[in-house]
Amino acid sequence: MNQTNPNKQNFQEMNLSPEILRAIEDMGFEEATPIQSQCIAQIQAGKDVIGQSQTGTGKTAAFGIPLLERIDPDFPKVQALILCPTRELAIQISEEFNKLLRYRKGVRVLPIYGGQPIERQISALKKGVQVVVGTPGRIMDHMERRTLKLSEVSIAVLDEADEMLDMGFRDDIEFILEKLREDRQTLLFSATMPKSILDLTIRYQNNPKHITVIRNTLTVPSIEQLYFEVRESLKLEALCRLIDVESPTLSLVFCNTKKRVDELTEQLQGRGYFAESLHGDLKQMQRDSVMRKFRNRTLEILVATDVAARGIDVDDIDIVFNYDLPQDEEYYIHRIGRTGRAGREGQSFTFVAGREIYKLREIMRHTKAQIKRGKMPTLIDIEEIKTRQFTEKIKTIMEDGHLSKYANIVESLGDYSTMDIAAALFKFYLHDEDAEAEDVLFEEPRKFRNFDDDRGFYDKNDKNGKHSKNSKSGKNTKNMVRLFITIGKKDKVQPRDIVGTIANEANISGGLIGNIDIYEDFTFVDVPKNTVNKILSAISTTKIKNKKVKIEWAKPRR
Ligand code: ADP
Ligand code: MG
Repeated sequence: MNQTNPNKQNFQEMNLSPEILRAIEDMGFEEATPIQSQCIAQIQAGKDVIGQSQTGTGKTAAFGIPLLERIDPDFPKVQALILCPTRELAIQISEEFNKLLRYRKGVRVLPIYGGQPIERQISALKKGVQVVVGTPGRIMDHMERRTLKLSEVSIAVLDEADEMLDMGFRDDIEFILEKLREDRQTLLFSATMPKSILDLTIRYQNNPKHITVIRNTLTVPSIEQLYFEVRESLKLEALCRLIDVESPTLSLVFCNTKKRVDELTEQLQGRGYFAESLHGDLKQMQRDSVMRKFRNRTLEILVATDVAARGIDVDDIDIVFNYDLPQDEEYYIHRIGRTGRAGREGQSFTFVAGREIYKLREIMRHTKAQIKRGKMPTLIDIEEIKTRQFTEKIKTIMEDGHLSKYANIVESLGDYSTMDIAAALFKFYLHDEDAEAEDVLFEEPRKFRNFDDDRGFYDKNDKNGKHSKNSKSGKNTKNMVRLFITIGKKDKVQPRDIVGTIANEANISGGLIGNIDIYEDFTFVDVPKNTVNKILSAISTTKIKNKKVKIEWAKPRR
């Protein structure tokens, strides 16, 4: 059932240490992504590499795994330097490295970026770190202060090289690379390969291997494809709700790791759904048994990883859920291709958490898939649907007759009218306290961690590289409400523009303004409830960045 894909390898087939393999296992990676499969061996062989693949295809581990294998824990000097464009990325890479290092003790990784007090970084550096991940501006700063010594760096990585050049880091990068040993290994990763990058590689790499992950032309099945923006902690609720509303007979839910598959299956079972897992850790017998149940419908939801789902040969899957956004475009196509087979109508629902919306756009761009924004059912919708289903059922029961036994019971309640009795029964079956509670899926404010700020925080000279938003100000979010502003990333709006406008024009202290989530076309901003009227009466229409914009309450989607 496992078709082998020449582009992808098992990590076990690579020459990796047991410690790293165990960590990869813990991280739940089932197999290497194509860029990992092709890069790791080359890097292990000491080659300079240019790695090109789309966002979200696992480039961090592609260089991280072989790089970390090479670090000598007993040698307390910086041995590897990773340059990346933003502080978020520096932190993210360090975190991924630390996960990979879980069983390999003694290798210290330090992220270094603007906005953090330099003294803290200096004292951390003094303790002896072997791997430094940082933004070029701050790295250069440390080099000039002589608080960072790079004479023992044997591997240098330029991650998101295209972004770094776009952000004007070229001179800094060159300054840094000039100072490194000549005999180092240099790796460069980028989603695109403009000429400026090729120039860099010619100057700073030694006979590099150019590894591009080629994508096949993909045909998107013609099924309805929707996406839902839902934050991680509410995905389960969203999934259950969609299943309740759509009531699919068979659905297939994809997660990116085995661990996620098992967790979700347990949660679904806990909520009373007939769900089971399918992933690479199952024995053939277990797998067969799960598939048998799925085929004869004793199982309604199959939760699977990409690898495990490859062999599924069930034709009438009604809905494919991408609980996690797939690792690459190809997976997306393979996943949704599981429904709508044999001329049936299928649907695919994709969950997008926070900044993954960018990745979704990539998927759409490359596959030409038409993925439309879906409307999450509200608790009220669910109540309506349940009522309708229940009423239909009652009608069929009445049509079927054979009710005398129950009619007797109704009769014995002679003091009440038949109408009241019927109404009470409906209430008993349909009343749902939750429906009257606040709807978590539409709760305001929604907080998307780090959604908009990958680029927002960066300042090359560290002048305002510090947290320019107020999202960590610890404001009591209960008393905050969310406003919607018709300006977004495409207008190059920054959090400070939003804060500035509201603070100045509505005469409100900037410190009161909460989370700001900037999307492509619009922005959400949280403000204290008791300032809303003041803000809206002052600036329901105003100009930001020379653009006329409207500011209004962000209504829950209904
Ligand atoms: P890129 O740098 O190409 O944009 P990342 O390295 O940030 O991609 O990886 C994207 C996500 O994929 C991360 O959450 C990472 O942990 C996960 N990931 C990486 N490799 C694998 C793999 N082989 N299997 C499953 N998930 C993976
Ligand atoms: Mg990356």
